[in-house]
Amino acid sequence: MTYRIVLLPGDGIGPEITRVARAVIERAAALSGFSVRFEEHAFGGASIDRYGEPLTDETLAACQAADAVFLGAVGGPKWDKAPSRPEAGLLALRKALGVYANLRPASVHPALADKSPLRADLVAGTDLLIVRELTGGIYFGRRERTDSQASDTCTYSRAEIARVARVAFEQARLRRGRLTSVDKANVLETSRLWRETVSEMGARDYPDIALDHMYVDAAAMHLLRAPASFDVIVTENMFGDILSDEASMLPGSIGLLGSASLGEARPGIFEPIHGSAPDIAGQDKANPFGAIEAAAQLLDALNETDAAARIRKAVNAMHEAGEWTGDLGGDLTCSGAGVKLVERLEAEA
Ligand code: ATP
Ligand code: MG
Repeated sequence: MTYRIVLLPGDGIGPEITRVARAVIERAAALSGFSVRFEEHAFGGASIDRYGEPLTDETLAACQAADAVFLGAVGGPKWDKAPSRPEAGLLALRKALGVYANLRPASVHPALADKSPLRADLVAGTDLLIVRELTGGIYFGRRERTDSQASDTCTYSRAEIARVARVAFEQARLRRGRLTSVDKANVLETSRLWRETVSEMGARDYPDIALDHMYVDAAAMHLLRAPASFDVIVTENMFGDILSDEASMLPGSIGLLGSASLGEARPGIFEPIHGSAPDIAGQDKANPFGAIEAAAQLLDALNETDAAARIRKAVNAMHEAGEWTGDLGGDLTCSGAGVKLVERLEAEA
């Protein structure tokens, strides 16, 4: 089996971290007995520089034909005044691939508990996954503006809610069997439809999953008070945007987290959650673990769970040994962390 992966290194630290993640995927694949073929394309600011637009037709066609799309990061001050924005490329790509579910895991390794802004005893054992609806809700609703008044409309259909809820229920089944659906059903009509739809699905199709519902304000508090009590969280677009950024602070560095954006069929888009970090770009200082976690998510989505587990095991071994980049107080470079990780992959094989 050979998978085709389109690699979009993007801007800033994107090229450095995706170089590491690519080597890790290639090694894990070889150890698990399959192969991958990477095809690299310019994307975001790098594509604006070369072709005058952030996503060319050729790059988009390559992505559509791939088994998965792996992305570094896009954007930076260089393109702040450019006529087309790097980020527009990402929105267009998401739209074209129809990815409606954004999966953001956040876990706290015991060796890293004291790097968290929360007390170590509070974050200990945190291992949660936020599933955010990505293509509906207020971010995509009708906008109106007069001189003295403005409005944004939030709309959800039953079908839009059900398809993202299904992803979340399935993830809960693969994890600890708990799903928390987050809404504001005491106020919003969209939230009442959300709660109704998720409840019906749970009762009908997922009686094995422990489903509960939480208002978004309570969820925001609970994420700080008892983060370890969550397994999978599913929520609409704007609530998910805010809660997933809140949750991303728990592990102690933004450089540790990955994300997957999935649609009905392949390919999904896999990327670290951080931005292009122009302040440290080109210095071989970036933490590649977020990109590496995204690589493990990519392999999981291709059903290559053995290779994904190898990667996570090697990452855990590095955490236990305190082998970190500077953001976590370690002395490894980005490329050095990659070399260490590949060594660990070989050693554990
Ligand atoms: P964007 O608008 O693209 O999200 P941003 O400015 O909001 O960008 P980042 O680019 O993620 O956010 O950078 C925020 C801070 O975190 C910066 O100081 C950056 O250096 C740091 N940072 C981001 N990613 C990493 C990483 N992988 N390793 C180390 N530090 C990082
Ligand atoms: Mg940002």
